[in-house]
Amino acid sequence: MIYAYKTLTLVKLYFSTFLCLCIQSIMYNKRFILQHQRSIREWTSNLINNFTKDTHKVRQIGDPVLRQVAKPVDLATIVTPDFKKLCDRLVSTLRRHNGCGIAAPQIGVPLQVIAVEFTGYDLKVAMDKYGSKGVSKLQMSLFPLKVMINPKIKIIDPTMLALKEGCLSVKGYRAMVPRVKEIEVEMLNVSGNTETFRSLGWTSRIIQHEVDHLQGNLFVDTMLYKTLINDSWNEFVD
Ligand SMILES: [Zn+2]
Repeated sequence: MIYAYKTLTLVKLYFSTFLCLCIQSIMYNKRFILQHQRSIREWTSNLINNFTKDTHKVRQIGDPVLRQVAKPVDLATIVTPDFKKLCDRLVSTLRRHNGCGIAAPQIGVPLQVIAVEFTGYDLKVAMDKYGSKGVSKLQMSLFPLKVMINPKIKIIDPTMLALKEGCLSVKGYRAMVPRVKEIEVEMLNVSGNTETFRSLGWTSRIIQHEVDHLQGNLFVDTMLYKTLINDSWNEFVD
């Protein structure tokens, strides 16, 4: 009888300790999530206030924000008006500078958001520059605007291909950068829904470039160093 009583007491003790630990863990996680949400909202609000100017500036290499690891965005933040403003600003900045891709750190916001777009105009510019042979070699194709939140890349075809690329944050310079050929991307869209898609060619390159930004990496970190050129080098030849 005493043995059974002792066992029951021990079970009660273990159970209450376990319950206590569970509650503590839930409270801690909830507090962490709330703090995380609040900090992201504070960032976005403060940064949105700075977006009132119509300058649409892009941060340049040397700015510490480009070397930070961007934070993931939670679902509660995605639905806020401030986050929508952030996405709109990202897209308008991308278009103002005729870019094909941009990441939130490039407008000073260290959050995991990128925007990618390859328009008919981009294709025409590429045709004029590289010809149809060049465009098909680069595997350039139309890509309607996509804002990707917390994008994650899985390599499908690991074959490396080095092509010339530039960056809105390394203005005036280009270099050959090796990247894998085909990837699968898992991301959240602006409605907070998960999307998965495969990408190859030029679009795959742009996405890899933008996802690098979210890790604080720039193309100059992985470029073939001796291929770095100043876009206007020939203007300095007498
Ligand atoms: Zn870039």
